[in-house]
Amino acid sequence: MPCPASPPGDPQHVARPFREGLLSLDPPHLIGARCGACGVTTFPARDVCPSCRAEDAPAPTALSTEGRVHSFTVVRQAPAGTPVPYVLAWIDLPADDVRLMAQVVGPAPEDVVLGLPVTLELVPFGTGDDGVELLGHRFRATQEAPA
Ligand SMILES: [Zn+2]
Repeated sequence: MPCPASPPGDPQHVARPFREGLLSLDPPHLIGARCGACGVTTFPARDVCPSCRAEDAPAPTALSTEGRVHSFTVVRQAPAGTPVPYVLAWIDLPADDVRLMAQVVGPAPEDVVLGLPVTLELVPFGTGDDGVELLGHRFRATQEAPA
């Protein structure tokens, strides 16, 4: 029987996305929506295509886990309990032609640069009312920023 108290990585470990329909855990990827009418992909998924306004045309699609930093800011003030500073970025997923906002980890904030390659990773995001671990997403730099 799955055990929510077992550590991540243990086959008995149980976790779920912090918001249903946002991401898949195995394999880890974000869930977008690709419009069957015009082909535009969005994240998060939408019921109505923001490009051609087709209703019920967008279908769930697994997004690429590889991206690049399009732009970013360094957050230096946050609610109590949230460590600062951290980097909040617009990230391009070129394979899907999607741009989304997420936290970037890896290098020190002053070492994050435009175009930095990043990879999706899942991260603990608290515990649900039922005691199950919740997982969110962020991106990790996949190489050192150029000097
Ligand atoms: Zn469309």
